[in-house]
Amino acid sequence: MYIVQIASECAPVIKAGGLGDVVYGLSKELEIKGNSVELILPKYDCMRYDHIWGLHEAYNGLSVPWFGGAVNCTVHCGWVHGLLCFFIEPHSLENYFHRNCYYGCDDDNMRFAFFSKAALEFLLQSNKRPDVIHCHDWQTGLIPVLLYEIYKHHGMWSPRVCYTIHNFKHQGSAGSDLLWKTGLNREEYYYQYDKLRDNFNPFALNIMKGGIVYSNAVTTVSPHHAWEAQHTEIGYGLGHTLHLHQDKFHGILNGIDNDFWNPEVDKYIPHTFSREDFEQKLYNKKALRERLLLQDADKPLIAYIGRLDNQKGVHLVHHAIYYALQRGAQFVLLGAATEPAIHKWFAHEKEFLNDNPDVHIELGFNEELSHLIYAGADIIIVPSNYEPCGLTQMIGLKYGTVPVVRGVGGLVNTVFDWDYDQNHPPETRNGFVFYETDNTALESALGRAIDLYTHNSQLFRELAIQGMRYDYSWNHPSQEYLDIFEFIRHKW
Ligand code: ADP
Repeated sequence: MYIVQIASECAPVIKAGGLGDVVYGLSKELEIKGNSVELILPKYDCMRYDHIWGLHEAYNGLSVPWFGGAVNCTVHCGWVHGLLCFFIEPHSLENYFHRNCYYGCDDDNMRFAFFSKAALEFLLQSNKRPDVIHCHDWQTGLIPVLLYEIYKHHGMWSPRVCYTIHNFKHQGSAGSDLLWKTGLNREEYYYQYDKLRDNFNPFALNIMKGGIVYSNAVTTVSPHHAWEAQHTEIGYGLGHTLHLHQDKFHGILNGIDNDFWNPEVDKYIPHTFSREDFEQKLYNKKALRERLLLQDADKPLIAYIGRLDNQKGVHLVHHAIYYALQRGAQFVLLGAATEPAIHKWFAHEKEFLNDNPDVHIELGFNEELSHLIYAGADIIIVPSNYEPCGLTQMIGLKYGTVPVVRGVGGLVNTVFDWDYDQNHPPETRNGFVFYETDNTALESALGRAIDLYTHNSQLFRELAIQGMRYDYSWNHPSQEYLDIFEFIRHKW
């Protein structure tokens, strides 16, 4: 199959979170399985150019219709660790992708509406006719709308669209100017409930809803989250829309890239290891402590890696630091805050705990350090309020780091409680799970993990090695995507 991925991120060149990992890992696996895959991405000024090989101008003078006029774009082409990527650079006063950030601008809806339009215009003008266009999250929700309302009539009748939602919280809201700028125009038509009108605000257009309504298949990133999105508040108001389109809605668990996240070959860690020579992990713990100036003592090392955001249960992350100290454990946090108030809060904690030899708080994004933490920590916590899939627990498992998670979303599909999971025999259990959102709940699970480490280190080691046996690679999920692609290609 000829598959084009259109997205706002692709790791490691553009990565703000899990979306980037998924776009890269899935694309690579689809290629390994014999498909032709190309990616279309924005050309941000702040992306990691050192991860692009052979970047060159591929298409000059791409004219993208916009607000009755046109914006001239250059399309650049290069390889990101073997994947063929096209980067779109608009030349207009708005400087859409020269903002020194990926997201967070007041006009994000217009930036990515423009990107969606430009991506389709590029496919049209360069005569590319993929079998399947795979687009992701609200940033590219307009792709199927534009394809079926405009570009189909220009000869692009063959591509089918699979739309994957990684996070329902951010849906992309806009007013009628979105229609005028993109050339969709007809306000009364798109403001209908069964089109783009927001389910709760009759004056707003909802871009993600458009993606759901118009795509041939819609997926989210774990089976349990697919259920949650339809039946609980986690769908952030889109539950009814998903219900109406349930026949084309699926949950497919994300994978992790086996080459990038693999303790046997990881070039960012000083001591590679596997299940067979698990003792090597201890040297990584030592290296991590040295790097972060933590004391070398016989204590479990607990880690948190992730965005510092309400979604991630920041109050429980904060509580876990002090609970770990109270229980004689060490704690390492690596995270970038998504709001100034949360940054201030953790910056204050960092200063307060600065001289404590058992805690390190690293505020910011640091890919290299994250590998060392996965390799060196004993326990990783994921106390999310909601978690569509979650990658950090899967990466933790791969590195023999025992996950302690809240039982929501993809965490339910990947972590099975050591003491209580009745659906999994003891030899397949891999972590600790709690369900409520209060401190006591977190303590109940983290406490059991610390107890096992302290009182029965042999069993703790077995649990960690047991977790390393899980294959959460892209091998299986990519086949599920291919099955969906095949289906929509022939049956729609
Ligand atoms: P999200 O909701 O942010 O997508 P996921 O668990 O799906 O969360 O993916 C998070 C990814 O981003 C993982 O690869 C994790 O290692 C990485 N990550 C998150 N925060 C940081 C950080 N501050 N530094 C380095 N890597 C990070």
